[in-house]
Amino acid sequence: MDPSAPITQDVMTFPRKEMPSDKINLVGLTRDALRQTLIENGTPEKQAKMRAGQIWQWIYQWGVRDFAEMTNLAKDYRAMLAEKFEVRVPEVVSKQVSEDGTRKYLVRIDGGHEVEVVYIPEEGRGTLCVSSQVGCTLTCSFCHTGTQKLVRNLTAGEIVGQVMMARDDLNEWPERGAPKDETRLLSNIVLMGMGEPLYNFENVRDAMKIVMDAEGIQLGRRRITLSTSGVVPEIHRTAQEIGCLLAVSFHATTDEIRDVLVPINKKWNIEKLLEALREYPKATNSERITFEYVMLKDVNDTDEDAHRLVKLLDGIPAKVNLIPFNEWPGAPYQRSSNNRIRAFATILMQAGYASPIRTPRGEDIMAACGQLKSATERARKSRKEILKEAGQAI
Ligand code: SAH
Ligand code: SF4
Repeated sequence: MDPSAPITQDVMTFPRKEMPSDKINLVGLTRDALRQTLIENGTPEKQAKMRAGQIWQWIYQWGVRDFAEMTNLAKDYRAMLAEKFEVRVPEVVSKQVSEDGTRKYLVRIDGGHEVEVVYIPEEGRGTLCVSSQVGCTLTCSFCHTGTQKLVRNLTAGEIVGQVMMARDDLNEWPERGAPKDETRLLSNIVLMGMGEPLYNFENVRDAMKIVMDAEGIQLGRRRITLSTSGVVPEIHRTAQEIGCLLAVSFHATTDEIRDVLVPINKKWNIEKLLEALREYPKATNSERITFEYVMLKDVNDTDEDAHRLVKLLDGIPAKVNLIPFNEWPGAPYQRSSNNRIRAFATILMQAGYASPIRTPRGEDIMAACGQLKSATERARKSRKEILKEAGQAI
């Protein structure tokens, strides 16, 4: 499909709701912050812990947005809550459904910014790809999001709100009969949407804590994968404070090439990155780290690259996810051929590494990896700028 062609029949757009109020949004507050907020607004200190627990369950376990429905709270207390607070999640602006069932949502957050969220149904599970920033300050030369200039961190509420929005759309709150366990439609989360999650650490952490909470959305920490381009100092913190699975955008086997593809490499090079990654599985007692490797024709896809990668991975419990490059308008790279990708995978497999080739999902609606970028975002780099940065790689 020509990505620049207007998408018509399969886009559902939704009318804009009323402007956000000046009420305090409870979504995204940690348990402590919720308790504190209740106290500051008149809940007696002795009761606050219990009230916070009740409200928390209504919001995150049952998906209730209206205080009037929180029936284990006294009527006048509910009225007080409704006056001061709200339970608000990002507003869906449009929804597209791919021919393969992938759903891409464009959601609006405060300030009129828009981010994309993608739901990928798979056999026996469903993964939500969540954004952590509007745009990205990093400028990986093969990534569409990296060409977007405007950047703002999402709040914890806007991050966990994406999960709540998707559960709304999938009709998957237990109140409506959804199961609690792994048979859920939304069973996994990947922080692989727009943005670098480790440049928004606290908000991502707080949001994931809510997602993992036993009285919250109840997804286990091994059902969450955070993908980073390699923000080395925050990797250890991720192990300590979140404990989820880790994926790393590796993409090259020499500093020379990685400097261009993933420019954060100039700050923390391959050696420093690997050092941090070596510690991660021990610190989290978790399984392997996923090395993401985008296959770019004649840039990083030779047999020598594959052999070098095997050497670099030595001693790290790892699997390699080979991602065929997803094109976007103006992209300065091409996807490696299927034969090349298979040959690369074979070398890794012979060295004992699982190396699945990721099937692009939702390509027809530009929902695949690296294609995300809100269409309404006007402040973008020129094609010339993109080519100039990328030109150094080839
Ligand atoms: N900022 C984080 C997470 C978001 S990107 C990170 O870089 O890890 C999610 C994954 O998609 C990353 O591995 C990224 O390198 C990859 N990606 C970006 N653009 C892509 C493209 N055009 N084709 C294929 N994969 C891409
Ligand atoms: Fe940002 Fe990740 Fe894209 Fe790089 S690959 S520009 S870090 S979103």
